[in-house]
Amino acid sequence: MRIVVIGAGVLGVTTAWYLARDGHAVTVVDRDPMPGQQTSYANGGLLHASHAEPWNAPGVIWQLLRWIGREDSPLLLRPGQIPRLTGWGLGFLRNSSRHRFERNTSVNAALAVHSLQLLRQLRRDTGIRYDDGQNGILKVFHETAALDKARHASKLMAPLGVRHSVLDARQTVALEPSLGEAEDQLTGGIYYPDDESGDAHLFTQRLATLAAAEGVTFRYGVDVRGLRREGGRITCVETDAGDMEADGFVIAAGNDSKRLAAAHGIRLPIYPVKGYSVTLPLAGWSNPPTIPLIDDARKVVVTVLGDRIRLAGTAEFAGYDTSLQTRRADTVLRQAAGLYPSLGEHAAQHTPEYWTGLRPMTVDGPPVLGPSPLSNLFLNTGPGHLGWTFACGCSRVVADVINGETPAIGLDGLGLQRFQRW
Ligand SMILES: Cc1cc2nc3c(=O)[nH]c(=O)nc-3n(C[C@H](O)[C@H](O)[C@H](O)COP(=O)(O)OP(=O)(O)OC[C@H]3O[C@@H](n4cnc5c(N)ncnc54)[C@H](O)[C@@H]3O)c2cc1C
Repeated sequence: MRIVVIGAGVLGVTTAWYLARDGHAVTVVDRDPMPGQQTSYANGGLLHASHAEPWNAPGVIWQLLRWIGREDSPLLLRPGQIPRLTGWGLGFLRNSSRHRFERNTSVNAALAVHSLQLLRQLRRDTGIRYDDGQNGILKVFHETAALDKARHASKLMAPLGVRHSVLDARQTVALEPSLGEAEDQLTGGIYYPDDESGDAHLFTQRLATLAAAEGVTFRYGVDVRGLRREGGRITCVETDAGDMEADGFVIAAGNDSKRLAAAHGIRLPIYPVKGYSVTLPLAGWSNPPTIPLIDDARKVVVTVLGDRIRLAGTAEFAGYDTSLQTRRADTVLRQAAGLYPSLGEHAAQHTPEYWTGLRPMTVDGPPVLGPSPLSNLFLNTGPGHLGWTFACGCSRVVADVINGETPAIGLDGLGLQRFQRW
């Protein structure tokens, strides 16, 4: 089949890779001059099946209300956005019941575990490297209640293949000595040995090069304005460089997926949740971490990527605004320096690279994968805070659906059918 994939982020490029390997003639179109320039550019770098919980955990409403309008908080709801959030926001809150949260966590965890298996296979098949690390991930906790909650969530995910060990504060520091100065503030940690890390941007670029060698055509600098439809099918994508016809079409357009789909009555409940990252050279930091770290209370992750250190975090409900506010980026740095006091000093000696991106987040947490009401239009979008973790899994599922095969993991909880029947 001739297939057009809209979007050369990590989801679009992995989709193109699998489809080309399955024998399709694939064209990827992106408005940017090269792959991975939007949300896949400088994310936290974590491949974390362990962190598969959607963000609408029971009680999230109280956190949001507590931090409303507070510029220095890790979770920020801008008052001006409240009217725009009503539809999505109510859905987000509706999905924060314990039952739905636990079900969506299981859906996400199964997809994440599958995805990491595929990523390992891809590394074996192609030798692709992307400042990757296989040291697991360590989550740290400052309160017994939070540790107990995470222990419970980890128990739920264990049968899906997410192994973990619970550590007290002393054991946490023994595993990760760079936390020595923070031992007093820690209640304990949970170590997930099968999680990984890596630079999503490097991966996307390198996989695009490998995909091009497999015959994929990349059309960069081309803006997709819409999709033309005849009856129950799409016939072409309309772009500023002319129409592109194909037999099948995949929307993997990150935060623009919603607009492209909406024109054909497909309602994608996705909202762009803004986050920040800070990247610094590693050299010169006397006591850097060796294991990627998540501190959920501080809403920050810390990852070593080759010779760089990446800090990421904050969640801001601010619409499609991608402007970079130094104060918000500084919050990420400050939260991380709370754990590694020498980091503040290290950062002061360098010029940190600040970045901001929009996580395309669904109301319930899992992405939207597979078929749509239009017979030859497929969806690979809405991966939220887990798009790097999910990339290979999402794209393999979508390629299987296009091939008319049954994906290794079921579409229940992942398809558009959970929001819209046809
Ligand atoms: C601060 C932060 C930290 C994160 N940390 C992690 C992490 O540690 N682990 C993890 O798993 N995930 C993380 N994520 C989430 C992850 O980065 C995203 O889920 C993922 O990058 C989304 O990929 P995507 O391909 O769907 O979207 P994108 O990367 O945004 O790609 C979409 C592409 O479509 C193109 N496009 C859109 N519309 C059009 C159009 N009309 N015409 C042409 N081209 C178009 C865009 O130019 C873009 O290249 C983080 C996100 C943020 C913001």
